[in-house]
Amino acid sequence: MRITVSLIKADIGAIGGHTAPSAEVLAIVRERIQKAKGSLLIDAHVGHTGDDLAFLMTHTHGADDPRVHQLAWDTFLAATEKAKGQGLYGAGQDLLRDAFSGNVRGMGPGSAEIEFDERPSEALMTLVADKCGPGAFNLPLYLAFADPMYSPGLLLSEGLHDGFTFHIMDMDHTEGDRLIVLEAPERLYDIAALLRDTNRYAIESIWSRKYPTEQAAAVGTTRLRNIAGRYVGKDDPPAIIRTQKMFPATEEFGPAFGVGAFVGGDTRGSHNLPLMPVPMNTPASTFFCVPMVSALGFSMHDGILTEPIDLFADPFWAHVRDRVAAKAIEMRKQGFFEPATLPFSELEYGGIVVRLGKLEKEFSIRDGSGDGKAAPIGAPAGVEDPD
Ligand SMILES: [Mg+2]
Repeated sequence: MRITVSLIKADIGAIGGHTAPSAEVLAIVRERIQKAKGSLLIDAHVGHTGDDLAFLMTHTHGADDPRVHQLAWDTFLAATEKAKGQGLYGAGQDLLRDAFSGNVRGMGPGSAEIEFDERPSEALMTLVADKCGPGAFNLPLYLAFADPMYSPGLLLSEGLHDGFTFHIMDMDHTEGDRLIVLEAPERLYDIAALLRDTNRYAIESIWSRKYPTEQAAAVGTTRLRNIAGRYVGKDDPPAIIRTQKMFPATEEFGPAFGVGAFVGGDTRGSHNLPLMPVPMNTPASTFFCVPMVSALGFSMHDGILTEPIDLFADPFWAHVRDRVAAKAIEMRKQGFFEPATLPFSELEYGGIVVRLGKLEKEFSIRDGSGDGKAAPIGAPAGVEDPD
């Protein structure tokens, strides 16, 4: 059976800051999504990671189906109404357009979708992140799909031995998003050269090379600031990953996420902290909004999902979280000094950008020191401090 799996998420407001949606908001969302089961949708699961609501939906309508996207959009709108009524912080903050135009992409919510012929034992994993940029999964997915030091299936399984094809999005090109397709292992160093920059490049999808029509992973690559033209919140990527058999085993992703790699995000979207694997429905952390990711494992038959297994909830992950917390505490000790703070080009809140611009006129060129090639600091003319 050909099935589409759609994962659509948005932050439409949270309690007491950027923490988690309210129970009332979740109830409205669950009711609306559940109501579509048996008609538009085959099955669905609703949850949240930090302040991000996420809808996992199975259906037969293909990716980018306007009705499925409209359901998600309308549900976010209804949730926003409740969020506003409760005075939730940042109510509707990820809904950046007024009129629905057939697809949530480019409107604020993040989405990841995969269409495939269901295997007899279809295993899949969903990832929902909070307080981080769209390249937050670059390192763990690179390790799981391209590095035999982390992914022994690349050596041990004929299904994986040919490697995987990486579709990588350049999210910060002046002419718009652009895609490059590179095959691992032949182009491994080129893939690494791009993925190291998690603020600009992000994996958009990964495909089997032995079975080229089989998509292994889909990752949301929306940059909210490219839609709004200014900082409005972190991108918090969602991802769907098929596992087992021709793909890495579910447990082969564990050590890759156990690294707790530093990613951009957290407080004011302007810092680097390690990505912490957390159980589902975890509120954002009051420790500087450390970036977090949850992972749910599902089996599926005829589009019907089992109950989820909370993949970062077993006892082992408490130890990983302790280590990640220690990394985060060490990094925060150096306060605003880079790399604890993101580089200037990535600073999202306008205050410091505008302030540096104002300092421009106080600088004077030192005689004989160069040809003036350094770019001016500060915001371009006309950019105002949003605060
Ligand atoms: Mg968020």
